[in-house]
Amino acid sequence: MGKPTGFMEYQRELPADRAPLERIKDWREFHLHFEREAESREQGARCMECGIPFCQTGQMLPGGASGCPVHNLIPEWNDMIFRGLWKEAFERLRMTNNFPEFTGRVCPAPCEGSCTLGINEPPVTIKLNEVSIIDKAFEEGWVKAEPPTERTGKTIAVVGSGPAGLACADQLNKAGHTVTVYERADRIGGLLMYGIPNMKLDKQDIVQRRVDLMAAEGVNFVTGMEVGKDVSAEQLRSDFDAVVLCAGATQPRDLPVEGRNLKGVHFAMDFLSANTKSLLDSGLADGHYISAKGLDVIVIGGGDTGTDCVGTSVRHGCKSVTQLEIMPRAPDARAADNPWPEWPRVHKVDYGQEEAAAVFGRDPRDYLISTKKLIGDENGHVKEIHTVGVRWEQGAGGRMNLIEVEGTEEVLPAQLVLLAMGFTGPEKTLVDALTLDTDPRGNVKADYGKYTTNLPGVFAAGDMRRGQSLVVWAINEGREAARECDRFLMGKTYLP
Ligand SMILES: Cc1cc2nc3c(=O)[nH]c(=O)nc-3n(C[C@H](O)[C@H](O)[C@H](O)COP(=O)(O)OP(=O)(O)OC[C@H]3O[C@@H](n4cnc5c(N)ncnc54)[C@H](O)[C@@H]3O)c2cc1C
Ligand code: SF4
Repeated sequence: MGKPTGFMEYQRELPADRAPLERIKDWREFHLHFEREAESREQGARCMECGIPFCQTGQMLPGGASGCPVHNLIPEWNDMIFRGLWKEAFERLRMTNNFPEFTGRVCPAPCEGSCTLGINEPPVTIKLNEVSIIDKAFEEGWVKAEPPTERTGKTIAVVGSGPAGLACADQLNKAGHTVTVYERADRIGGLLMYGIPNMKLDKQDIVQRRVDLMAAEGVNFVTGMEVGKDVSAEQLRSDFDAVVLCAGATQPRDLPVEGRNLKGVHFAMDFLSANTKSLLDSGLADGHYISAKGLDVIVIGGGDTGTDCVGTSVRHGCKSVTQLEIMPRAPDARAADNPWPEWPRVHKVDYGQEEAAAVFGRDPRDYLISTKKLIGDENGHVKEIHTVGVRWEQGAGGRMNLIEVEGTEEVLPAQLVLLAMGFTGPEKTLVDALTLDTDPRGNVKADYGKYTTNLPGVFAAGDMRRGQSLVVWAINEGREAARECDRFLMGKTYLP
């Protein structure tokens, strides 16, 4: 530990974000960097280099991940930042994480939730330190295409180009195999490209930069190709030595209420992905997106996808935006049944809510609200939403039941309703085409750490195997599936 008194001398500090009323005028990233290197070094100095660094454990505890799922060597690079050893820090970081420029921007940072300092002080700024290292590495030209010196002659098809598919392809390519990534969208990146909005993760400067680097290292990318439709899954199995399925869990949860089929009612992903595509194709000039301009927007779902819908609607210039959540508001501090190092289930104000509050004067979230029905106008377009307040009551066997509260019915104007209530698992086309076994939740059945499906030579990883999750878990699974695929092909493996 370079600075034994670090956390006693320095407070946790983060660079200020761009001001909400300023950043909603464009689609550029809203996070900023520290202007002086000394500020980063002070934050690195706050790390105590714990004997047992909970920050890098990456385990599932009740309520979510605790510690870093890719087991980043966090205390080591914190110390290197403090000492100004940026290149060494980068070398450490890339040992465990193929894409720190993604996680350093969008990860909710389970590492910080389990940081020991967080027991009685604000935790170390681990996520900021990660992104500072990788952004500096790109600036300094340390991140270069490094194609393998030898090829094994083995060929692998990776289906899906999200973080799981990309991490898997990157590892297998490094091991000398010839990898082809099949993606049905017109751009590579999965939800990194067409899910998470540009203001959180820049598509051209950050996502495409990494895709270009991987292409320069020899990974083949095929876009506009839906496996199971444009090319049969069996064809892939016969053309390649192994197949790794990383097709995500993109089946959205629907809202079975009266008026669901009215015009103006959309799944959040249709709204978000069309927006990003139009933004990248034409700066939104082609009009090929669902506009929220001048509309009363209702977002159903209080999670991250809902937040992205709020931020996007505000940028379109909506008339109002309300985010309805069926669960209660989380407490401001950890509850007694949510101790460290569990993921802290506490109230947070994310970028979308901050922006809506700056424009409309209030946090857009309403809690403990359930949708009763949607009513349309004479043209079949949604015009209002009918809601009711609810409470959760424990029933027999500990099961929580939803009870409607009499007298809390409300009618809100709504010309755009976005359904952001989560995802129910992978789409069925590919699963059925290959007759893959699934688990009780509908995800592809393959054990964590093994990734083998019921078909020899076919592996599954990422959201497709674990259900909708996080970028960092997708990277973890993609890396590990590559290791198991390499072992299957070569009889042994040196991949981590
Ligand atoms: C709106 C939104 C915002 C999110 N924000 C965050 C965040 O801020 N931080 C975070 O950590 N996580 C976030 N997540 C979750 C995260 O994006 C996912 O957990 C992660 O992308 C999963 O990676 P994956 O590679 O398993 O699948 P995906 O990223 O879903 O990629 C799967 C890819 O497979 C392709 N595909 C599917 N079927 C086929 C087929 N038959 N043939 C060819 N291609 C196919 C799809 O087009 C897609 O590109 C967010 C998710 C959403 C929906
Ligand atoms: S838990 Fe926190 S203080 Fe301890 S090593 Fe990890 S980052 Fe440093």
